[in-house]
Formats: sequence, structure tokens, C-alpha cells
Amino acid sequence: MTRRLGADQVTEAARLLRTGELVAFPTETVYGLGADARNGRAVAAVFEAKGRPHFNPLICHFPDAESAFAEVIADDRARALAAAFWPGPLTLVLPRRTECRIDLLAGAGLDTLAVRVPAHPLALALLRAAAIPVAGPSANRSGAVSPTTAEHVLEGLSGRIAAVLDGGACDVGVESTVLDLAMGGAALLRPGGVPVEAIEAVIGKVSRPLPISAAEKTRTLRSPGMMLSHYAPTLPVRLGAVEAAADEALLAFGPPLPGAGLVWQLSETGDLREAAARLFAGLRHLDAEGGRLGLIRIAAMPIPESGLGAAINDRLARAAAPRT
Ligand code: AMP
Ligand code: MG
Repeated sequence: MTRRLGADQVTEAARLLRTGELVAFPTETVYGLGADARNGRAVAAVFEAKGRPHFNPLICHFPDAESAFAEVIADDRARALAAAFWPGPLTLVLPRRTECRIDLLAGAGLDTLAVRVPAHPLALALLRAAAIPVAGPSANRSGAVSPTTAEHVLEGLSGRIAAVLDGGACDVGVESTVLDLAMGGAALLRPGGVPVEAIEAVIGKVSRPLPISAAEKTRTLRSPGMMLSHYAPTLPVRLGAVEAAADEALLAFGPPLPGAGLVWQLSETGDLREAAARLFAGLRHLDAEGGRLGLIRIAAMPIPESGLGAAINDRLARAAAPRT
């Protein structure tokens, strides 16, 4: 059963997060579904609880800019924006540091990471007490409206998460502004709580994507991963492999097929949460190591479509799609 924790139970909420449990928490925008961002299984459990049919990158929350910038590379613009708007509803997309501790699944396999310092006293108290980066998408089932009260969170996620930290109603109610600073320029990825004009007053021109029609928006929201330049392996990917060749690198699920030149086990026991947690690291490993060994292809064993399997298969289908 999902526990409802009061403002005096921040220490317990922090303890749950540190042990890999999911805890929803209030921010000034909406309630977030928090998990230890370093822990791939905890992050996989977030996608599972939300019922998302694909992996999209999650925002990582920190108690201050210094702890955020320990994980990502901040340039002068990022520092100026952090000084102006953090804590607050601004999310910055920045390159991961090589020593970044955030699990690859939290960033959906990307080389960039979205970071933010929320302006809510309970969120900040929780982040300080937990002293870990906390990945948190909105605390609702996929496709449902973002929750602005603990009741909303429980309506969607009761029984699926360990606890909700009840901080009453959120003030902003709209999500954070997402700004991409990772590609040199500054691009608005999502309008939100901090107006783009206020950002431009600090760092100059921000490029805005063209206005999109409502139909397109729905499609985008259904598959935000399509909008991102996801990491794609260099080696071609063959799906549904039921035998493996010596010149192939095998992405195994369950007892591995014999004969492959290299094997990465997603989950020996067929545990989808473990498989999700090991997916992006596995693709990177098979690609790099397989390339070094002169292998010509990645062969992926079949994965059931149930639960997290749908998101894993969605990602594998993209990795296998013809390159343009
Ligand atoms: P939510 O977690 O539901 O508030 O949504 C997070 C938003 O941030 C989504 O629109 C993501 O697509 C976006 N986002 C998170 N990380 C990245 C990233 N590394 N690159 C681009 N967009 C990101
Ligand atoms: Mg959301």
C-alpha cells in the first residue's frame, strides 16, 4: 500500500528513496515521481509505475546548483540562468560529465541530462535529506493529467509507489520550462513556469520551435522520444534473434543463445525491470566492444511485450530502424 507521509516525515521519505523505493513529492510545478537517479532498477520502476510505453528522459532534481553541476557540464550561460532562476521552474539540458553518476536509463540513453532545482520547501528538504540525485517525471499514469495534489497522485498511483509526501497543492501547476543548452545554442524544448522572455533577458536569443498544431502536439506527447536524437548504435541491430552467429554481439534475455562473439545479459531470469535497467549500458557495450572485436551486428533476443517489455521493444525497434 502507498503510504501518505506528512511534512514532518521527510527523513522517512528520504530513507525510502535511498533504498530504491519510489516516493512522489511536491514541487512548485506539479508532484514528481521520485527515484534514486543512480539506481537503474529504481528508474525502471518509475517507467513501470507510470505505464509508459517508451522510455523518455527524466528530469533530475537537486537541492542546489552545485550538486546539479557536479553531474553535468555547466557553461557561463547555465550558471547565469541557475543564479537567476534556481530554485525555480526552469530545467536545463546539459552534457553529462564523464564522472556523472546518473544511470543511463534516467536520461533514456542520451549524452545529455535535464537538471533542475525545484522551489518548494518540502522538495528541497527531501533532496537535502536524501543527498542523492532524484529522477522525477510527473507523478501520474502515462497519458493522465499532471497531479497538483497528493490526492491526484494517489488516484493514479496508489499501490504502485511506496509513498507520497503530502505538501498540499502546488502553486504553479504548469510544468517547468525546458531549455536545451547542450548543442551550442539555446533552444526552448517546452514552455513552462519561467517565461522565455525572462530567459532571453539573461542569455540573449532563445530559438523557439515552430508552433505545432494540436494534432501534432498529441503525437509528440505520445512519443516524445521521436523528437530527440537518441543514441543509436553504430552496428546494425537484428531483432527477435532465435539463433546467433560468431560475428554477432548478442543482447540476451534469459538463457543466452550459443555461438555469439560477445554477450550482454539483460536479465538471466527474464526480469523486465532488470532488463530495462541494463538496456542502454548493454547497447553501448555491445556496440563499442563488438566493433573492437570486428563483429558485424547486434542480435537481440525476443522480449515479451508486457509491462516494461513494450518500452524495451520500442527502444530496440528504433535502434534497428534503417538509418537516414
Ligand atoms: P516530465 O518529466 O514529464 O516533466 O518531462 C520531462 C521533459 O523534459 C520531457 O519533455 C522530456 O522530453 C524533456 N527532457 C528531459 N531530458 C531531456 C534531454 N536530455 N534532452 C532533451 N529533452 C529532455
Ligand atoms: Mg508528464
